[in-house]
Amino acid sequence: MTKILVSSCLLGCAVRYNGSDVEVHNNDFDWLIETQDIVPLCPEVAAGLPIPRDPAEIFGGSGAEVLAGTARIIGIDHKDLTDQLIWGADVALRLCRNQDNKFAVLTENSPSCGSNFIYDGSFSGVKKKGIGIVAARLSESGELVFSQHTVGSLRDLVETSRLI
Ligand code: SF4
Repeated sequence: MTKILVSSCLLGCAVRYNGSDVEVHNNDFDWLIETQDIVPLCPEVAAGLPIPRDPAEIFGGSGAEVLAGTARIIGIDHKDLTDQLIWGADVALRLCRNQDNKFAVLTENSPSCGSNFIYDGSFSGVKKKGIGIVAARLSESGELVFSQHTVGSLRDLVETSRLI
């Protein structure tokens, strides 16, 4: 069994900004849940944000630029959540390091957890290529990050024993 950090909202926890979870229906995700050692985390809730909460998007870049200080994460209420969400990303990294965990499966499109796409900062439902701040923090530290849509690639790694 491999320890794998997984976004709580993918695991049936209603922790999203609107108090919902994210349903996932694919065989690779079923394999993940049934065979691996899951470490659940919602970094936004870990950072102290409430449920429900106002949606937030990244302005001026993606997660890597937020960490570099050239982009910000702003709520639809115009509140700057950047520092708080960096704190949540650091919680995720500490959790991975404490548990010798090298892999994460994170929820696509989130300003925290997105690993391929995020919303473009216009709050109009438009996505762009980019990663969230948690995915950026974990990736820069050498963690391998997947989404609920790419967990099949993680499964290939595990099943062909190309891990570690
Ligand atoms: S996408 Fe990440 S931050 Fe957002 S609710 Fe899910 S676990 Fe929490």
